[in-house]
Amino acid sequence: MSSKPDITIAGAGPAGLACALSLAERGWRVTVTDPAPDRVLAAPSFDGREIALTHHSRGWLDSHDIWSRIPEGAISPLRTARIETGQDVPPNEAGALLFRAPEGSSDALGYLVPNHLIRTALHDAVRQEPRITVLAGKKVVSSSGNSDVARILLDDGTLLESALLVAADGRFSQIRQSRGIGALVHDFGKQIMVCRMRHPLPHEGVALQWFDEGQTIALLPVADDGQPGHLSSLVLTLDPGEIAALKAMDTATFSADITRRTQARMGQMSVESDRVTYPLKTVFAHRFQTTRLALIGDAAVGMHPITAHGFNLGLKGQAILCEEIARADADPGSASALRAFERRHRRATAPLFAATNGIATLYTHDARPTLALRKAGLAVADRLAPLKSMVTGFLMDRSHTA
Ligand SMILES: Cc1cc2nc3c(=O)[nH]c(=O)nc-3n(C[C@H](O)[C@H](O)[C@H](O)COP(=O)(O)OP(=O)(O)OC[C@H]3O[C@@H](n4cnc5c(N)ncnc54)[C@H](O)[C@@H]3O)c2cc1C
Repeated sequence: MSSKPDITIAGAGPAGLACALSLAERGWRVTVTDPAPDRVLAAPSFDGREIALTHHSRGWLDSHDIWSRIPEGAISPLRTARIETGQDVPPNEAGALLFRAPEGSSDALGYLVPNHLIRTALHDAVRQEPRITVLAGKKVVSSSGNSDVARILLDDGTLLESALLVAADGRFSQIRQSRGIGALVHDFGKQIMVCRMRHPLPHEGVALQWFDEGQTIALLPVADDGQPGHLSSLVLTLDPGEIAALKAMDTATFSADITRRTQARMGQMSVESDRVTYPLKTVFAHRFQTTRLALIGDAAVGMHPITAHGFNLGLKGQAILCEEIARADADPGSASALRAFERRHRRATAPLFAATNGIATLYTHDARPTLALRKAGLAVADRLAPLKSMVTGFLMDRSHTA
């Protein structure tokens, strides 16, 4: 048996690892490369991201023996999503847009799981799959493709050939750029800070998305074995200068500032983790494929985190790619399979990408007419039962087909 892999994947992030498992399950031999060393890939540290998983994603993780590798105590069911706008915090349900699991269902809307634990579980599964080889500490520095073969050069001088290269190297994908694939990049000019905060009042499984004037705050209910219901993930969107100032504060000053920013709605906030920052840029690649190359995960579509679609869509994308490769018989890099993948994944992501960017722009722009419009928007939307059930339906989507 030749040691040449059938397929190479650049990037051992969640999308790349999930794709490796899906391909290996169908019998392909896969090599995954990533610049991070093995100890980092095996046990990535907390990165502030708490991933809201849809039922579809949970189903995928379950059926690939990943869900059982995530500690039960780290999974937090999302019972209600609450959206507010403006400075006057409504004391009750009035003025807020609420999404709940349908009446009579004991199910959650979705599940919040820390990103580093999803990555740990995926890596664990990948390590036990004999058809997958992981080349840790090795970065792809160049790639090419022709009608017969995909080639990559690693930074240690290794040249690898396979039938297909899958680029899963994140939203600022160098492979995408070096292969001449452009992307629609939307720079919101803001940064996101994420960290865990403890609070005396219980969150009751409610995820709050609050488009306040001058700041956007999300409080996501995360699991906590110590004092359940009293730990939330803060997602704060502000200008880069304000984020830098918040990052430089000592923990007591920072906690007091967040208590003020949240109008003490959960009581005195107390920071319990590192404060991690991300630039707020969204990316949609002009193409998802070229000769013997497919883009998946954030390398194809880097979503605004506001609607929590990024990894969920990344999972769907890799599943579509594997389905189309399976249809292509012997050649996993066939042009017709890659074109079919591109068509289907574009259809699944383009409307959501546009809608999410539109909502994010409207709700983070504080000019007076916009403020009035968005308040009216929430009130109307709450009365639109079909719209609400559509959003709830997306989160609770259980179908395993992409
Ligand atoms: C604050 C925040 C909150 C979020 N919340 C949610 C949520 O609730 N729900 C949701 O679904 N999504 C959410 N997301 C999005 C989600 O985190 C991403 O969609 C997901 O991590 C993308 O995975 P990926 O594998 O495509 O990319 P990445 O996680 O960026 O991984 C890319 C990998 O490629 C490697 N790499 C880079 N260059 C090379 C190279 N040249 N050669 C080889 N390897 C390379 C990197 O080392 C890295 O390991 C959130 C994102 C943020 C920032």
